[in-house]
Amino acid sequence: MRVLKFGGTSVANAESIQKVIKIVQEKAKNEKLVIVVSAFSGVTNLLIGCGKLAQEGNAAYKNTIRESEKRHLTVAKALLSGKSLELIVFKIQAITKELEDICHGIALLNEISPRTNDYLLGFGERLSALIIAESLNEQGVKTRQIDARELIITDENFGNAKVDFDLTFVKTKSKLSDIQENILVNGFVAASRKRHYTTLGRGGSDYSASIIAAATDAEMLELWTDVSGVMTADPQVVETAYPLEKLSYEEAMELSHFGAKIIFPPSIQPVLQKEIPILIKNTFAPHEKGTLISKDEEKDAKSVRGLSHVNEIALFTLTGGGMVGVTGTVSRLFSALSIYQVNVIFITQASSEHTITVGIKQNNVEKARTAINSEFEAEIVLSKIEPVQVEEGLSVVALIGDNMKASIGLSGRTFSALGKNGINVRAIAQGSTERNISVVISQKDVVKAMNVLHEQFFLSKVKKIHLFLMGVGYVGKTFIAQLNEQADYLREEFHIDIKIIALSNSKKMLFDERSISPQGWENRLQKDGEKARAELFVEKMKALNLRNSVFVDNTASASISEVYEKVLAGNISLVASNKIATSSAYSYYKRLNELATKNNVKFLYETNVGAGLPVITTIQNMIKSGDKIFKIEAVLSGSLNFIFNNFTENSSFYDTVRQAMREGYTEPDPRIDLGGVDVMRKILILAREVGAKMELEAVENKKFVPAACFESDSVDDFLASLKKQEAYFEKIRKTAEKRGEKLRFIATYENGKARVELQSVNPQKPYYQLDGKDNIVVIYSNRYKKQPLVVKGAGAGAEVTASGIFADIISIANQ
Ligand code: ADP
Ligand code: ASP
Ligand code: MG
Repeated sequence: MRVLKFGGTSVANAESIQKVIKIVQEKAKNEKLVIVVSAFSGVTNLLIGCGKLAQEGNAAYKNTIRESEKRHLTVAKALLSGKSLELIVFKIQAITKELEDICHGIALLNEISPRTNDYLLGFGERLSALIIAESLNEQGVKTRQIDARELIITDENFGNAKVDFDLTFVKTKSKLSDIQENILVNGFVAASRKRHYTTLGRGGSDYSASIIAAATDAEMLELWTDVSGVMTADPQVVETAYPLEKLSYEEAMELSHFGAKIIFPPSIQPVLQKEIPILIKNTFAPHEKGTLISKDEEKDAKSVRGLSHVNEIALFTLTGGGMVGVTGTVSRLFSALSIYQVNVIFITQASSEHTITVGIKQNNVEKARTAINSEFEAEIVLSKIEPVQVEEGLSVVALIGDNMKASIGLSGRTFSALGKNGINVRAIAQGSTERNISVVISQKDVVKAMNVLHEQFFLSKVKKIHLFLMGVGYVGKTFIAQLNEQADYLREEFHIDIKIIALSNSKKMLFDERSISPQGWENRLQKDGEKARAELFVEKMKALNLRNSVFVDNTASASISEVYEKVLAGNISLVASNKIATSSAYSYYKRLNELATKNNVKFLYETNVGAGLPVITTIQNMIKSGDKIFKIEAVLSGSLNFIFNNFTENSSFYDTVRQAMREGYTEPDPRIDLGGVDVMRKILILAREVGAKMELEAVENKKFVPAACFESDSVDDFLASLKKQEAYFEKIRKTAEKRGEKLRFIATYENGKARVELQSVNPQKPYYQLDGKDNIVVIYSNRYKKQPLVVKGAGAGAEVTASGIFADIISIANQ
C-alpha cells in the first residue's frame, strides 16, 4: 500500500484536481492507495480571515463564507454531473450552513476560542475531501472517504495538537485494513479523545499522510506538490535552485526545521521510524523524477546539500556572570520556554558560559520574554544575570548536508562570502549533529544571503554579478558592446552571469532590477531614464541590496569620483577607468583603499595607467610578494607617443598635433596632453602603488612646450601659438635626429621622487622602439635589478580600456 498526499496547489481548482485524478488512476491500477488531501489552496487562510471578521462582529464574514461556497461549488460543477453532482452540491451547502452557524456563534460572542478555531479551520479539508473522493469515484477509481477524526487522535493543544501515536496506530490500522477500495482522508485535521476537532499545525497535511503511512506500514509515502522535489533552496528566493534526487531523512528534517516549507517538519519522524521512504513529486510535471528521501546516505554528495531560511526571528540573549560555572542554566532556560510552548530554532552559547543566545519565532516574543524573566527573576534581582535582551527583524539561514562534518572551513567560507557582500552575521551556530551551520542575519539581507551562499557552495551553476555603470561615453559604450559579445561565453565557460542593473550618463540614469539588455540600451536610457544624480544613483544602488554588486565609473568626472566613499562604505566593489580619485589628494586615495579593505570589497583601477595593460596589478603583486621597487621609467601617453612618432621633416609639429587630434588620439583639449598633466597623474598613481605618499604638485614637470603657448585662451589660440613656435620645435627634432635618437615623453619615479620630461633616447633604450600609441613601463626592483621588468603594448583607446575594465570585473567575480 502507498500513501499519496496532494497539497493545496495540487487541488487548487478543477483543472489541477483533474491532474490529481489522472495520477491516482495510474497508481491505483497496481495497488491500493490511501489518498490524503489538503484544502484548496488559499482556503485555510480564507477561513482564518473569516473567523477574525466574525470575532470583530464584522458582517463581512458572510461574504467570505459565500466566497468559499462559490469556489467549492464551481469546482464540483466542473468535475461532476448528474446525481453525484446533486448529492455533492447538497453536502457542500450543508457543510457551508454548519460553517455559517459556527461563525454566527463567534460573531455573537465576539470571541473565538482555540477549540472553535480548529473546528473552523477543518472545514477546508472536509470540503476538498468530499469533492475529490466523489470525482475519483465518478472517474472509475473506487474510493471510500474516511474522516481523519476516526484515525488520528491528539491531545487538546488546539492549533498544534500532539498526536497520541499508540491510539492513532491502533485506530488507523483497524479501520483501514478491512477496506478493499482506495481510501481518501482529509489532511491537517484530527480529533481529541473527547472527539473535539483539532489541527496538526499549518501545513500539517504532510504530517497526516506520514502518520497514516507509518500506521499502515505503507511501502512508500508520496507527497505531491507544485515543485519537482526538494530543491537546493526555496525556488522563490533562489532562482537557480534545482531539485535534489536523493536526501537522507536527517537532511530533510534539518531543511524543513530551518524553514523549507516543502515538508512540514514533524512529518519525517513517523516514517523514519519505520524506514518508509518519502517521494516528493510534482503534480504538474509528474514525469519528473522528484526527490527520494530515505535512510541511504549519498556517499559522493556535495558537503552542502541545501540551504533554507526562516524569517521573522527574534534573538534572546541572556548575559551575566551568574551563569558561569553554574550547571543547569541552559536546561532551566529551555524548560521555561517549553512550558510557555515556545519553540527554539537556534542556540549558541559562548564558551565562557557568560552568554546564551536563542532564536525563536517573532510571534512568540512576549511569551518568551515572560518565560525567561520569570524563570531567572531571582538572579536578575541580584544582578547576577541581566534582563534578557531581545532583537527582532532577523532571519536564520542554514546550510545543510550529511557530509558537512567531514568538511573543513565551511564556517569560514560562509562568513567570508557574506562579509564580501556586506551582510553582517549576528550569530552563528553549528548543530550538534554537524549536519548544519546556521547564521542569524538581518531579514532585509535574506534574499541576498541565500543567493550568495548558493553561489558560494556551487549549488548555483552560475554566479551573478550586478553592474551599476556610470558613464556611457566612448569607453562605457565599448565596454557594453564587449559585454554583449562575451556574455554567453562567460556564462557557459566561466559560469559568470553579468547583468547591467543601472546605467547613467551626465543627463539621465536608468535602473532595472531585472537587468538592462546590452542591446538597445541607448533608446531605453533616452526614453525611460530619469534625471541623473550621482548621489541618488548610489542611494538607489544600495537600496536594491543585490549580491555581487559592482559600481563602474567610466566617466572623467570629478563629481563622480566624490561618491566613491559612499559606494565602498556600502560594501560595493568599485572599478574605475576615471583616474581623478586615485590622482587627487593622497589622503583620499589612501582612504578609499583602506575603506575597500575594511569592507572586504575591491577597489580596482587598472585602466588608470596604460589602459588594459597589467601595470598596477603587476606592481601590487610584486610588492605583496615582498619585492621592493626603486625605480620606474615609463612612456605613458599614447597621444604624445603618436605625436613624436609622426613628427618628421615631412610633418611640422603643428600639423602632427592637428593630425593626432583628427584621429582621436588626444583629449579634446590637446593642452592636457601637451602640458604633461595626464602623464603626471599616471606616474603619481604608480608612485603611490609603490608606497610613496606623494601629491600631484610634487611631480616635477619640465614642460617642453614653451610657457607662452599655455597663455592662450582657447584651443585654437593654443594651436596657433604652436605654429608660431615652429622653429623651436624643429630645433629639438633636428638635434635628436642628428644624434640618431628619438623623442619620447618619459615619466620617471625614483627614490621617492617623480618627474615627467621630454627626452631624446638612443636605440639602446627600450623606449626607442615604440610604435603608434603604445605605452611602456620599465620597473627596476630588488628582483629585477639588471634586467628590468617591462610591460609594453597598446596603452590608449576605448577597446583596450574597456577590456581592462572587463578584466577588473572578472577578477571581482572570481574572488
Ligand atoms: P503543498 O501545498 O503542496 O503542501 P507547500 O506550498 O506547502 O506545498 O510547499 C511547496 C513550496 O515549498 C514550494 O512551492 C516552494 O515555494 C517552497 N519551498 C521552500 N523551500 C523549498 C525547497 N528547498 N525545495 C522546494 N520547495 C521549497
Ligand atoms: N490546509 C492546511 C494549511 O493551509 C494544511 C496543509 O495545506 O497542509 O495549513
Ligand atoms: Mg505543505
